[in-house]
Amino acid sequence: MTGNSVQSDRFDVLVVGGGMIGSALALGLARQGWSTALVDGMPAAELLSPVETAGQVDDFEPRVSAISLASQQLLEALGAWRHVQGGRHCAYRGMTVWDAEGTGRIHFDAAELHTDALGTIVENRSIVRALYTELANSDVALFDAVQVRGWKPETGIELEDGRTLGATLVVGADGGQSRLRQWAGLATREWDYNQQAIVCTVRTRQPHQYTAWQCFSTTGPLAFLPLLNEAGDAHFCSIVWSQDTVEARRLMALDAETFRAELERAIEQQLGPIETVSRRFAFPLRQRHAKDYVTAGLALVGDAAHTIHPLAGQGANLGYGDVAALLDELGRARRLVLSPADQAVLGRYQRRRKGENLSMMAAMEGFKQLFARDELPFRWLRNTGMRWLDNLAPLKNRVAAEAMGIKR
Ligand SMILES: Cc1cc2nc3c(=O)[nH]c(=O)nc-3n(C[C@H](O)[C@H](O)[C@H](O)COP(=O)(O)OP(=O)(O)OC[C@H]3O[C@@H](n4cnc5c(N)ncnc54)[C@H](O)[C@@H]3O)c2cc1C
Repeated sequence: MTGNSVQSDRFDVLVVGGGMIGSALALGLARQGWSTALVDGMPAAELLSPVETAGQVDDFEPRVSAISLASQQLLEALGAWRHVQGGRHCAYRGMTVWDAEGTGRIHFDAAELHTDALGTIVENRSIVRALYTELANSDVALFDAVQVRGWKPETGIELEDGRTLGATLVVGADGGQSRLRQWAGLATREWDYNQQAIVCTVRTRQPHQYTAWQCFSTTGPLAFLPLLNEAGDAHFCSIVWSQDTVEARRLMALDAETFRAELERAIEQQLGPIETVSRRFAFPLRQRHAKDYVTAGLALVGDAAHTIHPLAGQGANLGYGDVAALLDELGRARRLVLSPADQAVLGRYQRRRKGENLSMMAAMEGFKQLFARDELPFRWLRNTGMRWLDNLAPLKNRVAAEAMGIKR
C-alpha cells in the first residue's frame, strides 16, 4: 500500500481499477467522507512520473480522449483539472465532419454555442496523472502494483499477494475485460464490430485550427484530433482511424512512408501534407453493455459496464457520467445515514445511467450503420441530412450540446 496511512483493511467502498474512471470515483468518495480504498495493478510511482519530452510526434501518448465540458466540470470539482491544464492539452473550438463518398459536410462552432470550446483533447495518461496527484493528498488508501485475483460477497477482495480486503460496497472500474463483472456473474450484451482502431500522432504542414476533423467512409471513420506540444505548436494531431479488420491489418503492415501517403489521401489533405507519423497501435473494437450494473454489494462503472465505438469519442465521457451519478447517489446516502450498498441507492444509480448509456450506444450504432452503406438512398440521406443539419442552427446546436454533455 502506498501513500495514505490507513489502519483498517475494511472499507466503506473499495474501487477496483484506478484508470481514468476508477481513480476519479475513489477521490470523490473520500471527499464525501467514506473510508475508501483503490486497488490497481499499475505502480503509482510510474503513473505519477513526468514524461520526458521534446514535443515531437513520438512523445505524445497514442491514446487520447476528447473530454466533454461535463467531464471537465467533474474533474474540476475533484481538483484534478488544474493539473491537466498545467500539462499538455488542447481545447478545440470547432469540429468538422464530412462524408468521404459524397458532398455532405457539417461544422460545429463553439462561438455558436456561446462557449469557449467544444471540448479538450487530453492524453489519457495526463488525466490519470492529474487524478493520482490529487489522490496522493487524499484519504484514499491506495493499493497499487497489485492485481485483484478474486471477489466473493462474503469474504471480499482477494489480492494476488494473499491479502484480503473487506468493503461494504465494491466498485468494478477494471475496464472492458472486467473480472469483477465476471466474478459477480453480471451478463453482457456484446458484439464485435469487426473493426480495429489504428491510433498514432502526426505533424501536418498546416496548423489544425483548434478543430477536430472527422471524415466518414464506408469502411469506417477517420478522426484528426488537435494536440498542442509544450511550445504551443498547433501542427500535431492524434489520429483514430477505425477500419474493417482486414483493411486495418493491411494499413498496420504498411511501411511508414506508404502509410503516411495513404493517411494523407484519406483525410483529403485537409491540413496539407502530413510531415511525420509516429508509431502506430491498433485496438480491436467491441461493443459491450452489462445487462445490470449492480448486484448485492457491487456496482460497475466506466468500461466495466459499457464499451462503445470510439467514433464520437464518448467512452470516457460516459464513464464520467457514471461517476457523477454514483457520487450523487452515495452523497445522498451519506446524508441520510444509509449504507453505501443500500439496494435502493444502487438501483437509482443503475436507472439513471443505463438509459443514458444505452441511448448514446444506440445513436453511435445508427451513425456507424448509416455511414457503412454505399447504396444511393443512404448516400442521399447522409449528404442531404448533413447539409440540412448544418443549416438548422437550433437542432445542430442541440446535437453539439448533447455531445458536450451539457443540457439545454
Ligand atoms: C481508440 C480509442 C479511442 C478513444 N477515444 C475516446 C475519446 O476521444 N473520448 C472518450 O471519452 N473516450 C474515448 N475512448 C474510450 C476510453 O478510452 C475508455 O472509455 C476509458 O479509457 C475507460 O476507462 P476505465 O477507467 O473505465 O477503464 P481502463 O482505462 O481500462 O482502466 C482499468 C484499470 O483497471 C486496472 N485493472 C484491471 N483489472 C485489474 C485487476 N484484476 N487488478 C487490479 N487492477 C486491475 C487496470 O490496470 C486499469 O488501470 C477511446 C477508446 C479507444 C479504444
